[in-house]
Amino acid sequence: MLVPFMSEHQEVNPGGCSTSVPTAHRPLPTLIHRDHRRSFVDNVYVYAVVSRRSKGVSIGINLNPDKVCNFDCVYCQVDRKTPPLVRDVDMPRLLEELEDMLDLVQTGKLFEMERFRNTPPSLRRLNDIAFSGDGEPTTSPEFPEIVRATAEIKQCRGLHDVKLVLITNASMFHRPTVREALAVLDANNGEVWAKLEAGTESCYQQVDRTTIPFQRILDNISAAARLRPLVIQALFLRMHDQPPPAEELAAFCDRLNEIIGTGGQIKLVQVYTVARVPAETWVTPLTDAEVDAIVSMVQSRTGLAAEAFYGPA
Ligand code: SF4
Repeated sequence: MLVPFMSEHQEVNPGGCSTSVPTAHRPLPTLIHRDHRRSFVDNVYVYAVVSRRSKGVSIGINLNPDKVCNFDCVYCQVDRKTPPLVRDVDMPRLLEELEDMLDLVQTGKLFEMERFRNTPPSLRRLNDIAFSGDGEPTTSPEFPEIVRATAEIKQCRGLHDVKLVLITNASMFHRPTVREALAVLDANNGEVWAKLEAGTESCYQQVDRTTIPFQRILDNISAAARLRPLVIQALFLRMHDQPPPAEELAAFCDRLNEIIGTGGQIKLVQVYTVARVPAETWVTPLTDAEVDAIVSMVQSRTGLAAEAFYGPA
């Protein structure tokens, strides 16, 4: 049996969510919450984590084993120095890994494994299956088909309460096949966590380092949010020891208000900071107080629910 890691988007940073009682996220009952390794025995695509955000087990599906991404975020924690084990998505193998992982979680055998032995009883529940990756999952040609197959497996197992979560940078929402896959998510207790962590093109380019224009991301998020409520994942950080300027944070709130103004729904803004080793050494986390201040600003300027996720304790 195989079992692997967590995608960059998932958990932690972007990889990462919610309602604001920031300090509630500091005391973690066990260190298991911080174990976000994506390798799970021999698995190539499917991994499991006990997630502080999910308050349970999250099964992750890595759709970018080649580690290629259309963003190059300064805080990315994907190890791109180590060559990938595989480059392509082998769908039969991926689905076999998923079925095996679901067996492990549903039988409780997962918690007999050393890595998961200390999972508190309250977290021994399957919360979600997340599409993520060592890159942007919606760029994978297999993404639509795998979403469909995963939804079928979930239905066959009667896991109606288990969410299907897409963790994404929203860069491909304009593609018809991706839109169709989002509709499948909608019909299967799905949730879209879209990354947005800038208010201006220049900050976006500084942090996310991509050729994709900021306006496309904003348009894609607005269009998707008109069809279903989104979770926004916003990672703020220090660059060269400088926190984000107040005007940039105000612009970020303006962009959120514009999305709402076009009829978009945002169910939650997750404000977080760097929690793991980032791509660039000059990137460092914000303090808890700085994260809290951004949460308060989002709440007061937009009226949206916002939740804090802090950096390393
Ligand atoms: S570079 Fe890609 S994988 Fe890494 S955080 Fe950014 S969007 Fe996610």
